Amino acid sequence: MKVLIAGGAGFIGSYLCEHYCGEGAEVICLDNLITGSRENIVSLLNRKNFTFLETNVSQPFPKLPKEINFIFNLASPASPVDYYRYPLETLRVGSAGTENLLELARKEDAFFVLASTSEIYGDPKVHPQKEDYWGNVNPNGPRSVYDESKRYAEAVTAAYRRKYGLKIAISRIFNTYGPRLRPADGRVVSNFISQALAGTPVTVYGDGSQTRSLCYVSDLVTGLARLAGKANAVDNVVVNLGNAREITILELAKTVIFLCRSRSEIVFQPLPEDDPARRCPDISQAKAVLDWEPMVSLEEGLRKTISWFEGGK
Ligand code: UDP
Repeated sequence: MKVLIAGGAGFIGSYLCEHYCGEGAEVICLDNLITGSRENIVSLLNRKNFTFLETNVSQPFPKLPKEINFIFNLASPASPVDYYRYPLETLRVGSAGTENLLELARKEDAFFVLASTSEIYGDPKVHPQKEDYWGNVNPNGPRSVYDESKRYAEAVTAAYRRKYGLKIAISRIFNTYGPRLRPADGRVVSNFISQALAGTPVTVYGDGSQTRSLCYVSDLVTGLARLAGKANAVDNVVVNLGNAREITILELAKTVIFLCRSRSEIVFQPLPEDDPARRCPDISQAKAVLDWEPMVSLEEGLRKTISWFEGGK
């Protein structure tokens, strides 16, 4: 089995590469390393069944091995701080990058899994978010570069299915955390843990009443692999993948401070523009179709992540 993972040196992508290498699949990882890193895949680089190509999927591809069975498209900056920094790259990878990968899937007759995002729901007016909700997105605000690029990626993926009969699945990934989050990537879990361990103030944006639902990365990767594993049964599925436990950002800050045994104080800073007020997936479809639900509790996942940030395992 050959699996191509675009964005394979990123946070989630690197775990997916490990998963398939461990299964004995031949894994081809594509990444231009603007937000991913070699460090994430260092344990795989010497493996015979792993190939890393430093390439930008928004550009024409280098020569690739033939007979690819599965293509995962996880290539994109995904942290708000990253896509504010790389707005045009984010738009291009969701549009041109996704189209290039879809063309490849068409030539190879591969099953195509798009990593979409809870961001396509924008600042949701429906709660929790079900897959049939179309979202509430500002089309030209600062987050639009990510939201609209992923919405386009969904549209073009669905169009390839309609026009060419390509087999596809769309996963909408909610907030995910774990070891290998870049300490400076600006996301909430990495910021809070870095700050709490350093004893510096923990920065809550707004009043901290906004909510998120945090999924530990191993759970998320199991869900993605399950999606591809059910390729014949799930063609054309759109499915939320995330943890359905909702927590306010203020409560998260207090939990991280407690688990880090930190003396950090909490400081309140301005809420970024268009920051979604509530976010929580309805995962009944993932349970029914994939027989999947997260297994790792927030406390357990945070402990593992804190230990990695501390330089442990
Ligand atoms: N957030 C925060 N302090 C930080 C970083 C983020 O309060 O240092 C908040 C942010 O405003 C948002 C939530 O935490 O409400 C999640 O932010 P993140 O950047 O991780 O991802 P998002 O879900 O917004 O894409």
